[in-house]
Formats: sequence, structure tokens, C-alpha cells
Amino acid sequence: MRVLDIFHNLIINLIIYRKKLTKGMKVMKGHPETIRKINRRNIVEMVRQYAPLSRTDLARRVGLSLPSVSRIIDDLIAERIILETGKGRSSGGRKPTLLEFNPRYCFAFGVDVARETTLVLTDFSGTIVEHVTLPTSAAYGPQQVAEVVGRQIERIREKHDLPPERIVGVGIATPGFLFKATQAIEDSPFMGWEKSDVVNLFSSFLPYPVSIDNIARASAIAEVLYGWGREFGSFFYFYTDWGTGGGVVYRRRIVRGAHRACGEVGHITIDPQGILCYCGNRGCLEQYTSTVAILRMLRKKRGGEVNFDILLNGYAQRDEVTIAVLKQAGFFLGKGVANVINLLNPPAVVIGGELGRCFPEYVEEAMTSARENIFSLVAQDTPIVVSSLGKKEVVLAMAQSVLDHHLEKLI
Ligand SMILES: [Zn+2]
Repeated sequence: MRVLDIFHNLIINLIIYRKKLTKGMKVMKGHPETIRKINRRNIVEMVRQYAPLSRTDLARRVGLSLPSVSRIIDDLIAERIILETGKGRSSGGRKPTLLEFNPRYCFAFGVDVARETTLVLTDFSGTIVEHVTLPTSAAYGPQQVAEVVGRQIERIREKHDLPPERIVGVGIATPGFLFKATQAIEDSPFMGWEKSDVVNLFSSFLPYPVSIDNIARASAIAEVLYGWGREFGSFFYFYTDWGTGGGVVYRRRIVRGAHRACGEVGHITIDPQGILCYCGNRGCLEQYTSTVAILRMLRKKRGGEVNFDILLNGYAQRDEVTIAVLKQAGFFLGKGVANVINLLNPPAVVIGGELGRCFPEYVEEAMTSARENIFSLVAQDTPIVVSSLGKKEVVLAMAQSVLDHHLEKLI
């Protein structure tokens, strides 16, 4: 029996070994193609970052032989992704031909829909070709905004004489879309967006691929590219502006969640008996921390007409009521920040949006209030920092995301 057992095990092991061997061989079959793609990607990235470069420079930088680099470069030149431009300095022999990334290979639009709409056209290298602001108002609603944006994009494309096939997409940041809302939404700046299937809506006015993010996540992407992302690869991004929202950034990428709704921190409940929110719940964080909430508090304490300019003025004049209202909002923001730190233990929290930029005391109060509620002693010193980015970086990030996505498809 023992001999039989040993023989049986030997046969089983042989079968497993054969399976492993064939499986390994299958992987090997696809291998050269994968390697070629990786080399092609590295070469495009090198040219994008360090051009102008000669083929020899490029071969040295990517660690490949000159013939291998030349084969890939010839393909990229035929596709017009890379151009040959001028001659470099000779180190003895013939002058080398220099290679450049072709910035006019394709173009993308970035749009930020807010109280006024910001729009940029960028080339393939991410350089701004045109930057406009459009006087849209919160009262416009998604349909009207989509019409205005569609018209402007076509006007700009024609002005720069760009064939439609050179436009690879439009990245749009909106106040939000498809979320729970009740009648109370009529008193908020987000009216109309709650029911909108914005991708279809904008697509009906634009003959290009459309990608949409809410403003909080779009701002978090901008932070990764142009702001604190240079220091922190992962962080939680708090956006406090007309609304309050957020985004989880993990290893330089936005975490989308199972239904692409990750980061809706504005609607965590901080007081179940509190202020009624347009989402139908009471005591949502947004109702205590956003610009709308601050203006409401100010109106209640002061009476009369209150708007953002009056808030800015009051702050500049060191008006006591204004400062107290901002500090109170900051106090609540701090509770939200602490909740996020307790839940996720991120390496850092970045506070972005108009309020953080304009009112340092709002942020200082939030930092103090957050530290009081961080449970773990080791997470006490989590850096809480303020973003210095504005609308321009958000639209640039939207356009850049479209270009990156296109580049990934190309190589
Ligand atoms: Zn809510």
C-alpha cells in the first residue's frame, strides 16, 4: 500500500508540474509583447519629460540598445506622437537628429462648472492654449450650463482651426450629480444637478468623449498633480466651498468605491436633531461647514442681506460676528476631519476649496477641534494642511486626466 501511495503521489505531482509548465509557457508567449509595450511607454514618458533628446540619449536613459529604441521611435514618428526636430551638437561624428513630443498631436478641454464656469483648451503636453471664464450662474441648471459649455467648446475649436478628430475628450467638474435630494434642494446652489445624468446630458451637446467628476474629487485630482500630492502620495482631501465634499487619494489615485461615490463626507451626520439638509437628513456636516452654511449663520446673527463679498469684507475688517461665525464653522469642520482620521488613518488631510484659502482662522479652528477628537495617540500628529490651488488647476487637472487616459490607450 505504501509503495502504491508513493507512486500515486508521484503521478499527481507530475500532473501538477506539467500544468505549471504549460501555464508558464503561456505567460512566456505573451511576454515580448508586454515588454515592447513597457519599453514604448517608457520612451514616450522620457521624451515627454526630457525632450529634446537624441536617439542615443534616449537609449541611455531607458537602458535599451540603440536599434531597439530606433525601431520603437520609427513607429512613434509614423504615428506622429513624436517628431524629429533639428540637429543637436555633435560629439565628433554626424550631428544627431533631436526628438520632441508632438504637442499638437491631440487636444483636450477641461471645464469647471461653478458660480462662473472656467474652461481651458490644452495641447498634448498639457500647455494651456485658451483659458476662458463664462458668466454662468447657479440659477442656470445643468441643461443650460451644458448648452453654454457645448457652444463655447465649438467656438474655441474653430478659432484655433482644430479638426474635431484632434479633440480627444472633455473633462468636466460639476457641483455633483445623481444624489438624494428633497424639496429643500430648492434653497441650495445644487438644484437641478441631483436628477441629472450629466454624462449623457453633456454628451448630447458635445461630439467628443465626456468624463465627469464632482468638484470635490476633481479638486483632489488637481491636488495630486499640482499641490500636496508632491509631498503625500496618499491623503484625504476635504473640499469646503459652496458645498462640503471629499475624496480619498491612495497612491496618487482617487479611490472611487463600489459605486463611484466614495468620499461624500459632507453628508455624514454630526447632529441627528440638527439643521435640515436638502438631502432630507438632519445635521449633515455640510450644513455647518460650507459657504452656504456660513452665510446662513451670518444672516441669522446679523440680519439683512449677506453674500460672499460681505463675508470677505467683514473678515478683512476683523468684524467680531464674522470671525465668530467662521470659527464656529471651523470647529464643526474639525469634527469631520477627526472622523475621517479615526476611520481611515490617512498619512495627511488636505483642506481645499474657497473657505480654506480665504479664511485662515476657519482652518486653524478646524485643526484645533480635530486634534481634540482624534482617538489614537499615534494618529494625533497627522498633518492637516491647506491647499493653495484654485480653479485654474482644477480645469487643468480635468484636461490632463483626459490626455493621460488617451495616452494610456495609445501606448
Ligand atoms: Zn445632507
